[in-house]
Order: sequence, then structure tokens, then C-alpha cells
Amino acid sequence: MKRIINHLKNSRRLVLATHINPDGDAIGSLTAMGLALAALGKETTLYCASPIPAVYRFLTGTTRITGQYDPSESYDTAIILDCGDFERVGPAYANIKETATIINIDHHDTNTGFGDFQIVDTAASATAEILYRLFKALDVAILPDMATSIYTGIFTDTGSFRFSNTNRAAFAICEEMVASGMDPYTVAQNVYGTYSLGRIKLLNLALDSIELAAGGKVSIMTLTREMLAETRTQPEDIDGLINYARRIEDVKLAVLLQELENGSQPANGKPRFHVSLRSDGGVDVAEIAATFGGGGHKEAAGFNIDSPLGDIRAQIVRLAEKL
Ligand code: AMP
Ligand code: MN
Ligand code: MN
Repeated sequence: MKRIINHLKNSRRLVLATHINPDGDAIGSLTAMGLALAALGKETTLYCASPIPAVYRFLTGTTRITGQYDPSESYDTAIILDCGDFERVGPAYANIKETATIINIDHHDTNTGFGDFQIVDTAASATAEILYRLFKALDVAILPDMATSIYTGIFTDTGSFRFSNTNRAAFAICEEMVASGMDPYTVAQNVYGTYSLGRIKLLNLALDSIELAAGGKVSIMTLTREMLAETRTQPEDIDGLINYARRIEDVKLAVLLQELENGSQPANGKPRFHVSLRSDGGVDVAEIAATFGGGGHKEAAGFNIDSPLGDIRAQIVRLAEKL
């Protein structure tokens, strides 16, 4: 940590990046880090390859996030947030990896240890929790806007303090964030209390798609592009739906098969799916995802696969029968 603090104090121009299809921890961490470095008088660019989900746009600093990395800009340091592997930053990876110093700040079990400096803590509830400690070490005052970002990262990554990564630090830090003047109701309302009608209709289709396999040990939810079109929703509206499949009694492994958009179709003509995996703790889904080239945490992981839906289902069922 000391070497990272020294390095950050001496850096001038930094690019901060998080993973594609960002969640609350990705956006919360990106904006909190941006605010902290601004307070230290640093010049920063905030990069995220995907559009910022509407529900996180209330966070201060999201308007500064760009989806276009300008390769003519030069930075002395890149800070990669909430990414288990460097490629998760998406298309700008090839450019960002040329930055003189790379700092990897993350909490995924499958973190590859990339970069020149790492603060990887797999016991942390969220990357935002790690940032809270970093800001304390940097002696940066945590003002309400920054507190809102940190709170949002922890609140969303712990599933509103329900998932198994909910730890003492999550409560202690969030209590301190509330004490610093941020409003937890504002976060809850923005993130979970202002869904479009389409999103609720999508929930209906998602619930209807759930099938059980392997004698009820596995639940499979399927979301097609057609369902998004029918409900006029975006991929960001899928966030959290898999938790319904996970909640079913006796289910050990919940799977969400999400057909990806046209733009992400591979050249081989096969359909591309994002597969999300969730477990109740008995099954290590990070390990399963890693065998498919993905990653994540023991109880929440994911990967992409180019394959027809029927084949993916068959692979999942075969895998589940061994559980
Ligand atoms: P998701 O199911 O997409 O919400 O992701 C669950 C967890 O797995 C998150 O912590 C992600 O960062 C991680 N994850 C999802 N997809 C991938 C992937 N293709 N490669 C590595 N990690 C992933
Ligand atoms: Mn994330
Ligand atoms: Mn996270």
C-alpha cells in the first residue's frame, strides 16, 4: 500500500477504467476514485466501454465517464477498478496496457494479478470497500458525493447486504458514509426504486423462462434479444434478474443465459451468449466460469460463449448432474 500511495502522490495524469457492462461497484468505484484524485489535484480521464446504466447516472462524476479512449492522450498511470482480468476493460485494453504504470484494484477470486501494483483483496465485499481504505491512507476527506459512490458500490455488490460477501467492514464503512452526510434512501430509490415499465415486463418474461434441470439442483433463466426488443429494454435492465432463479428452494446453481446484441456476434456465425452463474455457496462458480475463460467470485461468476442455446443448455445440465 505504501508504494502505491507514494506512486499516486507523484502521478499527474491518470486514466481510470472499469469493466464492460458495469455494475454499481464498477461505477461507484470509478466515480469515487475520480473524486479522490481530483481532491488531490490530479488530472484524470474516466473510461468505461459500455453505456452507464440509467440507474447509476445520479452519481456525481458519471457525466465525466467516456466510452471513447483517445490513444493520442498519454497518462503516467492507469488504475483498473473491479476487473478480475485486464481484458475486462474492453476495447481500449490494447491502448491502456501501454500506460507506464498499471494499478490493479479489485476483489475477484479469479484476479490474475496483472499490473505493476495490485491491491487485490478477495475478502472485500466490493472494490469500493478497498477504495475506502485507500482514501483513508491517502488522507483524502470523504465528502458526501464520494461517500454516495462508495456506499453504492458496497450496497449493490452485497445485494443490499444480503449476499455472503456482506461483512463487518461493509456495515462499518456504510455507517460512516451515512454519518458523512450521504442519504441511503436516495441510493436505494435511484438504483432499485425507479424501474421503467419495460423493465418490470422483462422481469415477467424472465420469470416465465425459468426451467429446472438436474433434478431441481439447477435453475436456468433465458433472456433473448427478442425479449429486450419486445419490452424496449436494454442489457442493463437484466442486472439482478438471476437472483430470482437463485432463490428457488433446493437450487444449488442458478444460470442466466443472455443472448448478446448484434454488435457482439462473433465472425464464426454462431450466436454469442453471456452466461451468469450464481450459487448458494456449495458450488464454486468462479471455478466453473474459469474453465470457460471467464471468472468472478465463488458465488457469482460469468463467462461468454459462442454456441447455440441448446448446446449451452446441454453443457450446463451435464455439468450440473455432477454436482
Ligand atoms: P455477471 O453474472 O455478469 O453479473 O457477473 C458475475 C461476476 O462474474 C462479476 O463479478 C463479474 O465481474 C464476473 N464476470 C462476469 N463475466 C465475466 C467474464 N467474461 N470474465 C471474467 N469475469 C466475469
Ligand atoms: Mn463489478
Ligand atoms: Mn465488485
